[in-house]
Amino acid sequence: MLERTARELSDLLARCEISAETLTQAFLQAIRQRDPQVRAFLHVDEDAALEQARSVDARRRRGESLGSLAGVPVAIKDLICVRGQPATCASKMLQTFRPPYDAHVIERLRQADAVLLGRTNMDEFAMGSSTENSAFQTTRNPWDLERIPGGSSGGSAAAVAACETPLALGSDTGGSIRQPAALCGVVGMKPSYGRVSRYGLIAFASSLDQIGPFGHDVADAALLFDAVAGHDPRDSTSVNRPAPICRQTFDRDIEPLALGVVREHFDAGLDSEVERAVREAIRVYERLGAKIVEVSLPHAKYAVATYYLVATAEASSNLARYDGVHFGHRSREHSDLIDMYCRSRGEGFGPEVKRRIMLGTHALSSGYKDAYYLKALKVRRLIHDDYARAFGQCDAILGPTSPTPAFKIGERGNDPLAMYLADIYTIGANLAGIPGISIPCGFTRSGLPVGLQLLAAPFEEEKLFRIARTFERATDWHTRRPRFVS
Ligand code: GLN
Repeated sequence: MLERTARELSDLLARCEISAETLTQAFLQAIRQRDPQVRAFLHVDEDAALEQARSVDARRRRGESLGSLAGVPVAIKDLICVRGQPATCASKMLQTFRPPYDAHVIERLRQADAVLLGRTNMDEFAMGSSTENSAFQTTRNPWDLERIPGGSSGGSAAAVAACETPLALGSDTGGSIRQPAALCGVVGMKPSYGRVSRYGLIAFASSLDQIGPFGHDVADAALLFDAVAGHDPRDSTSVNRPAPICRQTFDRDIEPLALGVVREHFDAGLDSEVERAVREAIRVYERLGAKIVEVSLPHAKYAVATYYLVATAEASSNLARYDGVHFGHRSREHSDLIDMYCRSRGEGFGPEVKRRIMLGTHALSSGYKDAYYLKALKVRRLIHDDYARAFGQCDAILGPTSPTPAFKIGERGNDPLAMYLADIYTIGANLAGIPGISIPCGFTRSGLPVGLQLLAAPFEEEKLFRIARTFERATDWHTRRPRFVS
């Protein structure tokens, strides 16, 4: 049961072959058994989850009409606010914070009658690619417990891979949904900027952040995407156009289909086993009748540098609110107000967050702003234009999600630059605001999952899901589960 997709579980529930309460109990038990090893969850509210499940069962018995995820468990990354539950961002700064309201996506999940299982681990304030930057615990990759699950939404990806939940929400600022999905052998999708409301998402870099779904397959990701996408006036960057209903169309083929392969994505730095799996995936699409065209993103080589100016600049501004007064941790000992600010921030933030705040403050400082931040905005526009040009030639771009499979815990801990390069293929989509998805496309010889990334033009999520699903129907990588689970 635990290994089933959300759609299969939803069918069982609808046919009353299982109750939401029994199903929730089963996943709670899987968490109790497996999570001491995987460490994907920071907080599990068993009582609240069971209460939601019982209420769905009662309403089903009464014959009431239920939402699209009725009785299906969903895990939530620990930076999306749920009223009364912890939202720590895996930071000591917010260790005791309990938001007084639900994020927009949580309201939508409640309307869909989903069961909220608990809060998943992450890199502190979503800064990182391995989940090692959590102040509380390091999540492990269910395919190899010595390795990282990716990040920053590593807890959400690992929880789905370990079958501790069928679905999870994460957030993606530079790759934080797609990269851990690739490394954990699950599907993870980042919507177009503006498609999903950021109301109640604790901000890292506001012009890049998007919430998105994790699932075992493309169809499940589409189901969860549908549940949370759509306009919300409380987020001024939320777009006011109707969201597609992807779960009704993902099985329709696109013909003729033209797929772009980016010349610059197969440069030095790409692991040979990842390259082999991705090239094989391209051949699968060719066999299915797709035309493969070579496209160029000439400014792709500047994406990492541009991202680490824009994201850090926005982070330095967003994180200024943690001053020991308004939110979170306040130092016990201090001599005056300035000392209180300094000590509270010094104690509350971990080393990577401090590094980002310093980089971003520098990039915005007088005398350097033109050279760094404003220059980065101009390059961001060039990167955006590269994608727009490429989508004139193809329906979607495909390539590797991550340059390497999951690395060992501790391996890159002392080398921030090596860590930053984990997002070399994913960051462009955030800078350009376009949707992207990572789907399983193979394994290395030692059994580590490899992810294929597909990118589409802005607001073409429906097309993106259809193209991804085409691959899924022809392959069975998405049906594999880690040995650890069975
Ligand atoms: N790994 C990138 C970073 O550290 C992206 C993180 C994210 O998408 N939240 O900033």
